[in-house]
Amino acid sequence: MAYTNSESRRRRKETKEMRLRRLKRKRAVLICAMVCILALVIWGAVSLIRLFLFPEQVDLASISAPDWIDQQFLEVNPYSRPGTQLEEVNGIVVHYTANPGTTAQQNRNYFNSLAKQNGESATSVSSHFIIGLEGEIIQCIPLSEISYASNDRNKNTISIECCHPDSSGQFTDATYQSLVKLCAWLELQLNLKERAIIRHYDVNGKLCPLYFVQNESEWNAFKDDVASYRKSHDRDDF
Ligand SMILES: [Zn+2]
Repeated sequence: MAYTNSESRRRRKETKEMRLRRLKRKRAVLICAMVCILALVIWGAVSLIRLFLFPEQVDLASISAPDWIDQQFLEVNPYSRPGTQLEEVNGIVVHYTANPGTTAQQNRNYFNSLAKQNGESATSVSSHFIIGLEGEIIQCIPLSEISYASNDRNKNTISIECCHPDSSGQFTDATYQSLVKLCAWLELQLNLKERAIIRHYDVNGKLCPLYFVQNESEWNAFKDDVASYRKSHDRDDF
């Protein structure tokens, strides 16, 4: 059967239109696939950035202290326990008491006695934890509240004061071991990255803790000890 000229033109036109429609469909599918892939890539990148920059915040009030921490919270007062909530914690600051031979209990009681102050020359100082010469650990302030120890970093750090026997500021072995354990426990409980521990010196240049400022290699060795302790313990194995 032979097509007439007009019939064959019509068929050619139909075939061309069909090809065009198919091409358009393919292009639409391709664009949809590309948009989906792009959306997935953007979502993945944003999730990674959020995870890196804003790690999941821990409910600070829900952390319960193990029995090797002696909780003796200060009374709420403007000078040592203002009761202000910490909105986030992204570091731990180590200090020394700069008061040779004093015990953890004496330092805790001193912080508490500041509540009785009034007037313009009032002192404001405190710390979340104090580690004594025998390695005993007293907690003065709940993890969910700020302490007055680390200047600009009070708002987002946990502070630890360490007692020391003499003016060199070097800690006893018992104090040192407790500090390693407490830092490792805090890092895990607070979801902190490894090596989130800093010295008061790193905040504002104050010579505190003196021994770790004057002996940088000892400070680095301390951080290594915390990292090893952390690696060898689970979150609930303390
Ligand atoms: Zn300090």
